[in-house]
Amino acid sequence: MLFFVDLKNIYCFMKNLCALLIISIFFFSCDTEIKIKKTDYKQYITILGIAQDGGYPHIGCQKICCADFYNGKKDRKSVVSLGLIDLENQQKWLFEASPDMHTQLAQLEQHHLKKAAIIDGIFLTHAHIGHYTGLMYFGREAYGKKNIPVFAMPKMKKFLTNNGPWNQLVSLQNIVLKNLQHDSTMVLNQRLEVTPFLVPHRDEFSETVGYKIEGSKKIALFIPDIDKWKTWNKSIIEEVKKVDYAFLDATFLNQHEVKRAISEVPHPFIQETVSLFQNETLATKNKIVFIHFNHTNPTLQKNSKERREIEKLGFHFANEGDNFEL
Ligand SMILES: [Zn+2]
Ligand SMILES: [Zn+2]
Ligand SMILES: [Zn+2]
Repeated sequence: MLFFVDLKNIYCFMKNLCALLIISIFFFSCDTEIKIKKTDYKQYITILGIAQDGGYPHIGCQKICCADFYNGKKDRKSVVSLGLIDLENQQKWLFEASPDMHTQLAQLEQHHLKKAAIIDGIFLTHAHIGHYTGLMYFGREAYGKKNIPVFAMPKMKKFLTNNGPWNQLVSLQNIVLKNLQHDSTMVLNQRLEVTPFLVPHRDEFSETVGYKIEGSKKIALFIPDIDKWKTWNKSIIEEVKKVDYAFLDATFLNQHEVKRAISEVPHPFIQETVSLFQNETLATKNKIVFIHFNHTNPTLQKNSKERREIEKLGFHFANEGDNFEL
C-alpha cells in the first residue's frame, strides 16, 4: 500500500515537473528575443538598434503599441545603429550615435570585439535626435576620454562645431571630427571601404547621407532616413541591385499610420517600397532589410501578421543581434 502511494506521488511530481517545463519553454520562447546570434564571420555588420529616433517605447504614447511594453508583452527596442566589425584587423566602427549608444557600445565590446579603444570611429548620417545625440556620452559628464574619431559631412561638422553642448566635445577634444564628402570613398583598411552619399530628407540642421559599406566579400547599403524614393536623383531599384544587403528606411508601414501631414515627416512607406520592387526578382527583394521603425509600425514587432506577410514576399526585417557578413 505504502509502495503504491509513493509511486502515485512520484507520478504526480513528474507530471507537475513536465507541466512546469512546458510552461517555461513556452514563456521564454514567445517573450524573449535572442539578442545575440553567434557568428564565425571575420568581417560583418551587426544590428545594434532598429527603432526610429524616438525609440520603443515612445514618449507620450499610451496606445496599445507601447502599452504592450509596459505590461511586459514586448521587449524594448534600441534606436537605429549598425556596428561594423573586422576581427582580423581588430577594429570596430559604429554607424549613428543614437541615444542608446552607451549600451550599443557595450554590446559591441561584450559580444563582438574587446579592445582598449571604445570605438575606432563613428559615422553620422544627419542631425536628427536618433542619429547623433549619443555623442553626449563622450563628454566630461560621462566618458570624458580623448580623440574619438567622428566622421561627418560638412554641414553636420559645422553644426557640431558651432552649437553647444556639442562644441564642447570638439573643444575638449573628446571627439575629433573627420571630413566626409558626398560620393568620396573612405578606406578604413585594406578590406573595408565606406562611401557616404547625399539623400533628400528634412535637412533643418545638416545634410543627410546614406552609406555604402564595402567589405572583401559583400557590399551593404544603409539608408535609415530619406524622403520619398522619387525625390532622390538615383533609382533605389538600381542601387539595391548593385549591393548584397540594403538596410532601408521603414519608418511607417503605410499612410494609415501617419496622423499628421506626411509633408512634415516624409518617408517611403514600407508598402510603397514593396510595390516598387514587386516586379523584381526574389534575389533582389531578398537583399532588402527594413530598419528604423516608428513605434506605431506593426512590423517593428517580430511576430506581427503584417510583418510575416511582407516576409513571405521575400523582404527581410532587421532584428537586434542579426549579423551580416561583409
Ligand atoms: Zn531617424
Ligand atoms: Zn506607441
Ligand atoms: Zn531624420
